[in-house]
Amino acid sequence: MAGDKERSEKDKDGVAAFQAYVSGRGDQNQPQIWSKHKEGETCPVPGLSDTQYRQFVKLFGNQESTAKEDNAPITNMAGNIDKEGKWIIDSGATEHIIYDDLLLKNKRKGNFEPPVTIPNGETIAVEGRGEYVLPNGMLIKEVLHVPNFKCNLLSVSRLAKDLQCAVTFFPDFCVMQDLRSGTLIGVGDCNNGLYKMGMMGSERRAMMTTLDTWHKRLGHPSSSKLSHIDFLKNISVNSKEFCDSCIKAKFSRLPFPVSTNKTNACFDLLHCDVWGKYRTPSFTRANYFLTIVDDLGRAVWVFLIKHKNEASSCLINFHKMIQTQFEKNIKRIQCDNGGEFTSNKMLDFYTKEGIILETTCPHTPQQNGVVERKHRHLLETARALKFEANFPTKFWGECVLTATHVINRLPSDVIENKTPYELLYNEKPDYERMKVFGCLAYYKSTETKGDKFVERGRPGIFLGYPQGPKGIKSMISNKEKS
Ligand SMILES: [Zn+2]
Repeated sequence: MAGDKERSEKDKDGVAAFQAYVSGRGDQNQPQIWSKHKEGETCPVPGLSDTQYRQFVKLFGNQESTAKEDNAPITNMAGNIDKEGKWIIDSGATEHIIYDDLLLKNKRKGNFEPPVTIPNGETIAVEGRGEYVLPNGMLIKEVLHVPNFKCNLLSVSRLAKDLQCAVTFFPDFCVMQDLRSGTLIGVGDCNNGLYKMGMMGSERRAMMTTLDTWHKRLGHPSSSKLSHIDFLKNISVNSKEFCDSCIKAKFSRLPFPVSTNKTNACFDLLHCDVWGKYRTPSFTRANYFLTIVDDLGRAVWVFLIKHKNEASSCLINFHKMIQTQFEKNIKRIQCDNGGEFTSNKMLDFYTKEGIILETTCPHTPQQNGVVERKHRHLLETARALKFEANFPTKFWGECVLTATHVINRLPSDVIENKTPYELLYNEKPDYERMKVFGCLAYYKSTETKGDKFVERGRPGIFLGYPQGPKGIKSMISNKEKS
């Protein structure tokens, strides 16, 4: 029975088996450079990189007071209203306290709790307990819900014990680091003598990782591309830091020749091409991939295929998908004269569906420029991902699919620095679950068979994103990248 309950809990989460969180170690593997001793440049705390330290100093240093009442001396935090709803990091508190239980998970209600005593001797009723998820996904357990409290308190002693972390206070900010790995797990800023940590905020999340990590997560794009992503704007993007994988992938760093889109709506015109044959079959035994690019938003779809002629059935299935998911019809398809697009079967399909086929002259790939440029971008990104992850060549398919995922979420100057994703779905992409390709990831094991003492999180290597909004693909291995 316990097993059943567990399974249904996981099903609620969608692709729960793959729901994973990344170890900070995999993401934040910036080497420490201790030889630099320039005043103010080197981080005084082991485990925090110089870049991270400098970013925090820049972001939190010399903050101006914003609220008038902030100037009043604060000695009793329980009586003060913190309108921002931030966590106050309190070394005097013995419990975590929150006043808004909407922010809690797994709530347990009841008046069974002893009341909280505040410094003036008064007691305030506790209405229940729950869990709070930190911006990095870590769980703070046993948070007391006290509705009459006017601020949220994070107890340093509980935090240090429960998360096995060190909390270090600087003049303008404080950091929490995992005791074993030294990885940064939280950061708070100091405002008018109080150390505070924001609730879930994308800016704060971005600060948790360095720009270098985002460069890797997003498939090694140029700094100027990163500067167009809203939550990365506040991080210095004038980084000229050396990226070995970019050099190896022969990134030209030059913008692709700009071509204008000729359509008014998504799926009015699709550009298609097949890439291959590649000499090494992929992990899934593919030798080719079919690329479909939407002319308006430049969104790209890639299908790994074993034989060139599979491209036709892929295209037919794609048309069906568009009709069901987007309630649209493809109006025109542009491709070269390849037999996979011009067979009798395909000509029948175009006629039946009312699609106009536009073919380009043989040996003039520039006529099929949109998809040619997309291939170049896909392959450069895929190569950088492969070099960064240090993967064998047979994983080229996973690299290309991951490149497709990130490119759809990167701003493009052809569409005024919007992302293909937002032109397609009318909403901004969610970067929350993005990880560095090839990093160590943990996935929830479903093989527990109700046994409470079996390991729940098992290590794997992050291999990209499956279709659908949640989850990750991972390769399970007991050894690290073998
Ligand atoms: Zn790079």
